[in-house]
Amino acid sequence: MIHASSRSKRIVLFLPHRADPDEGVRVAADLLPLELLQIASVPYSEGYEVHVVDAMVEPDYMAKLEELCDGALLFAGSCILGFQVVHGARVARRLRERFPDLPMVWGGWFPSVVPELYLREGIADAVGLGQGELTFGDVVRAIESGEPLGSVPGLAVLEDGQVRYTDHRPVVGFDKFPKVPWDLLDFEKYVHLQQNPGRAKIRHKLPDPLGLPAGTKLRTFSYFSSFGCPEPCTFCCSPRVTGRRWKALTGKDLAEDLFELQDRFKFNHVRFQDANFGVAEKRSNEFCEALIEAGSPYWWNATYEVETIARYKEASCDLLRDAKCHLVILGAEAGSKEQQERIKKKIDLDTNLELALGRIYERGIQTGTTWIIGYPGEEAPSMVATIDMAAKMKHRFPGSASDIFPFRPIPGTEDFDESVKLGYQPPRTFEEWGSCLEYKYETNDISIPEEIELRWRRYGSTATFYDGLTKHGSSWVRRAMQRMSGWRLAHGEYRFPIEQKLYDLYVRASGKSEADAVRADRTSGVTPNPVSS
Ligand code: SF4
Repeated sequence: MIHASSRSKRIVLFLPHRADPDEGVRVAADLLPLELLQIASVPYSEGYEVHVVDAMVEPDYMAKLEELCDGALLFAGSCILGFQVVHGARVARRLRERFPDLPMVWGGWFPSVVPELYLREGIADAVGLGQGELTFGDVVRAIESGEPLGSVPGLAVLEDGQVRYTDHRPVVGFDKFPKVPWDLLDFEKYVHLQQNPGRAKIRHKLPDPLGLPAGTKLRTFSYFSSFGCPEPCTFCCSPRVTGRRWKALTGKDLAEDLFELQDRFKFNHVRFQDANFGVAEKRSNEFCEALIEAGSPYWWNATYEVETIARYKEASCDLLRDAKCHLVILGAEAGSKEQQERIKKKIDLDTNLELALGRIYERGIQTGTTWIIGYPGEEAPSMVATIDMAAKMKHRFPGSASDIFPFRPIPGTEDFDESVKLGYQPPRTFEEWGSCLEYKYETNDISIPEEIELRWRRYGSTATFYDGLTKHGSSWVRRAMQRMSGWRLAHGEYRFPIEQKLYDLYVRASGKSEADAVRADRTSGVTPNPVSS
């Protein structure tokens, strides 16, 4: 039981760095701290004093946290994967040392699936599992009234040295909790970083809208319009964390809310952070129709599934275009029928993949397609099939991303369990968790045969040339490189990349670095595509 009767009603919410600034990286500044704003909704509506501290926009976040935590009712943090995990733990340890009686709670994807790590490390009195809005509201009330957290549904707690899961809390719709308290967001700090990116390499940056009028500065807002996902993909933790439930705002409510927010925050671009935005065609249509009626006042991008778009009517895809959707992100994930079956994605590669991408692309909307290689037990021919399918789509839809990522054994997924069965030794400490699962060209925690890795890297270089992202050499040299690269992608032939070697030599001779040779980062998570072959 936590006694907090003498404390204030101040709640401190913290979002750790999602990428390590000491390595010169950070994530795109259009990723607003939505997870914290969502859980703030209940306590804020009940009059608690809530503070949001996001390390990305708060240079002196530690001093600020120490000041706010002094005498606070509660500290809570949220994290997903990678560096964010270890950074969150480091900060929490310092706060625990300084304020040993301050109640601490963690939530988010990673704590939801590995709660014991937080509880045994002593940096959490409870861990919220899955959807957090109602759970967090109950946690706050319990702490204030001195009730045991073990009575709150939807948590993991430590009792007598044992981790205990409290009663299950069902997933609820957005109408069951108050609106997001946007008063807590200092949006201009994010806009400043978006427009002044500095020298850091930016991860998870999405492409700007094609045809963005010259001189237009993007002010990008981000938003959760749904929770969960009904799909069963074996490599993703959503099925277990959300129980394959999907709850969403209606298309009309979503449009109305964003109109109000646009009046207030003056954004011209929206990035939906939903796991699966496009599940319901009717909702997508309602949202688009409301936008079109209002003159399509901003660009936006969102996640849709390949099979979903293949099912949509042509008219629904027209609405996406007319509502200024500029990018649709689609997970394709495997290039063979067998592997599609195994990961339970079950995309019809023969017909629906190209149909779906084509429907979007031919309307002038970019597609951002993701692929994964190195699944547990995946054989080399299956990985080659994925690289070749990614290349085929790249060739077919130039200018649109078709990015291949290495498989990551994410805890709380079927494929994590499978990896462990096959001998994968999962990390055990925060430090170990924090140094893996980053989505970049690192394969040291999975096994990808050397020849596959080479093919994958050569695909990345070739795709860069094909998209015309290189910036040195005369225009005819670059056009020739583009044609040659197109041939390579179409034929899956990456051997003897003589033209790329010559280009590298030219770049080096002109005193430029390889990174200088790439005009822009167009990938969703890998920055930048490697040029060296
Ligand atoms: S990978 Fe995407 S579609 Fe599959 S379960 Fe996760 S969120 Fe849903």
